[in-house]
Amino acid sequence: MSELSLNRRSMIKLAASAGAISGAFASTGRIALADDSAVTPLSGTVTIHKLGPITLHSYTAPEASAMVNTHIVETANALHVIDAQFLQGFASEARGYADSLGKPIAGMYLSHSHPDHLLGAAQFSDVDFVTSAAVRADVDKNQGMYQRRKEQLGDTTELYLPTGSLEVGVGDWDGVEVLISEVNDAEAAVTLTFAFPEAGLVIAQDLLYANAHAFPLGNAENWIAALQSIAATDGLKVVGAGHGLPASPGAIDDAIGYLSFQQATLADSADAKTAIAALSKAYPNYGGRDLLSFVNFRY
Ligand SMILES: [Zn+2]
Repeated sequence: MSELSLNRRSMIKLAASAGAISGAFASTGRIALADDSAVTPLSGTVTIHKLGPITLHSYTAPEASAMVNTHIVETANALHVIDAQFLQGFASEARGYADSLGKPIAGMYLSHSHPDHLLGAAQFSDVDFVTSAAVRADVDKNQGMYQRRKEQLGDTTELYLPTGSLEVGVGDWDGVEVLISEVNDAEAAVTLTFAFPEAGLVIAQDLLYANAHAFPLGNAENWIAALQSIAATDGLKVVGAGHGLPASPGAIDDAIGYLSFQQATLADSADAKTAIAALSKAYPNYGGRDLLSFVNFRY
């Protein structure tokens, strides 16, 4: 067995354990993953699904970063990375994990313009990074906000932004068909989803918060319609969430139920504190608790 595959096996084993992360690590840390002597347990969690012609490796940050996901789609000869984490430490872990797989990264893709999926792209600055023209236009509107968030985090890396050259529609990733779709005015202004019909996989990113509190500032009606459309996908086996572990299709029904309850709660509550308390009480085990702070913007 090659050194590389041994290294990969040991990291997969280690990835199952999620540990605590310090503030210093969150902004600046880099874990040495290049050789077995320096392997440190990942702070995030890696989940692996073998699905027909692809293997999906999902790197999920811990609760400290709202369980945000970087998905790595492994095909016969290459890796294709979807979204790049928020904090540099977790992005660095995701990059180290990708490098351990021993295949070149053919490209990185941005699903939408929110900073928790983009700021960590600095760890992939040697990789082609693309999104659709519409998502790129949204990215341009948010550049001031990215800089403010980086300052708050003490993140001194240079922002690495995608080009807007990605075509929406049917694509070919290393011989595997991918259907890239644009969803407007749902969780974000524009969101890309990535469907792999031969694999029974849809990477829905922030259209699905799996066992996690959903961002409360989206257009819930459009968002629920988009989830219903994903749920109706033929042969669907696994859904890649934007936050929370990759899930079975049943998680979509749960997310629709959450969004309905969230909207009713926001409408019925006198203030943000009351609404947050009601959401926390109804979903006591949900992750992504920091996302509840955005409820304040609804009042
Ligand atoms: Zn997100």
